[in-house]
Amino acid sequence: MRSKKLFVLLGVVATSTISVFAQGAGQAPQTPPADDPIKVMVDQLDLDKYKATLKGLTQFGDRRQGTERNREAVNWIEAQLKSYGYTNAERIKYDPPVPSSPCGPSVPESIVVRPAPRAGGAGAARGGARGGGRGQSNVAQGGGRIVGNRARTGVNCDPMAQPDARIRALDSGPIIPGPVDEVYVTKVGTRYPNEMYIVAAHMDGHGYNEAVDDDGSGTALVMEIARVFADPRVQTERSIRFALWNGEETGLNGARAYVAQRQALQGIEEPKGSGKYPEPKWIAMIQHDMMMWDHGMPIPEIGPDGKQVMDANGRGMFVAPKEQRAEADVNVEFAITSKFADDAMKLAFKFKLAGEKYATDYPVNVGPHMTNTDSGAFQDIVPSISLRENERGAQTGAGWNPTWHTPLDVWSTFSDKDFRLGLNAAQTTLSAVAQLAGATIRK
Ligand SMILES: [Zn+2]
Repeated sequence: MRSKKLFVLLGVVATSTISVFAQGAGQAPQTPPADDPIKVMVDQLDLDKYKATLKGLTQFGDRRQGTERNREAVNWIEAQLKSYGYTNAERIKYDPPVPSSPCGPSVPESIVVRPAPRAGGAGAARGGARGGGRGQSNVAQGGGRIVGNRARTGVNCDPMAQPDARIRALDSGPIIPGPVDEVYVTKVGTRYPNEMYIVAAHMDGHGYNEAVDDDGSGTALVMEIARVFADPRVQTERSIRFALWNGEETGLNGARAYVAQRQALQGIEEPKGSGKYPEPKWIAMIQHDMMMWDHGMPIPEIGPDGKQVMDANGRGMFVAPKEQRAEADVNVEFAITSKFADDAMKLAFKFKLAGEKYATDYPVNVGPHMTNTDSGAFQDIVPSISLRENERGAQTGAGWNPTWHTPLDVWSTFSDKDFRLGLNAAQTTLSAVAQLAGATIRK
């Protein structure tokens, strides 16, 4: 019954009307002139296109690494990037570790095709969204202090917890042994083709859902930015690589494979005298992971008696607020413990300034505890940052996002206020990277 109530609550999110956002209106230090090339580029992003790309990713369900749906998603992403005009799409292959998931190596199909036991029975969503986290450490993984209300987190491994039979069927295929692929394309710099920024997100997910927020939201963001840079009238002095990592959820497998295979190739001209650099020297790495949900701290679940609902162990239950909070922001994080902390911090603040100027609805804030995403594979090699909806350690880690790795990470959970936060992160990264890479628009 409790799970049903939560489900209804989140249903309200999905159908809530869009309001005009006031956030950030008074914050922009300056309004860019209409002929500002960066603004012209940012204006090529819009909510409908971002949503359309993200919706396209949902046709492959949770895109779990090693499955057929994961392979089809890589193919689809590559086809999209080519349709934008890229002729240099490349792939690397790697062997994922075994076992490759907290849910085990694979799931028998027979489990998945049974009908759901009850309508709205989002059992794992209940698990993900509720439960006081008392007794846990107050220091989040990767640093930062967790304060305030906490909800339980964890990966849903029960296919039957997904109430939508269509999504259960989508997510039903087994893990296929053998290597997996990941794809990237490159905007080649006109002046320094031998140096590049890496703009990335992970395309795999798990939890028996559509991996909409984690991390379709980052994948669509990178693809949309790649689309804008693909315009032949746009030129950049330095190169930009758009990479869609595979296998993040099982230990940054795809990003680590990329580093292992490509790090030593940096800056080498191949063939000699060709002016071509298959692996330009890395200037910085910019990761995007979970871009849309900033509803704030879990709030006590109040029962019909007006008191907080308790679980069997007498711990208070918490639920997620249904609306994007008024203080919602884009969080740019760097790792204070990394070798390039100072440069990464400066980079993060450049993103904040870019957001102040070019993001339309939400502010951008900087934090020092980047953790648990693909940029970790790069942080001691090159200045690295991540953009997210929340601070990963202290907020996501404290259960602020009930969709995280649960059956709630599906299209119908999110409202345009959520999608718009993702769009604002896209505006931030596009404008920051365009400035850093020296973008101009040819008349
Ligand atoms: Zn993720």
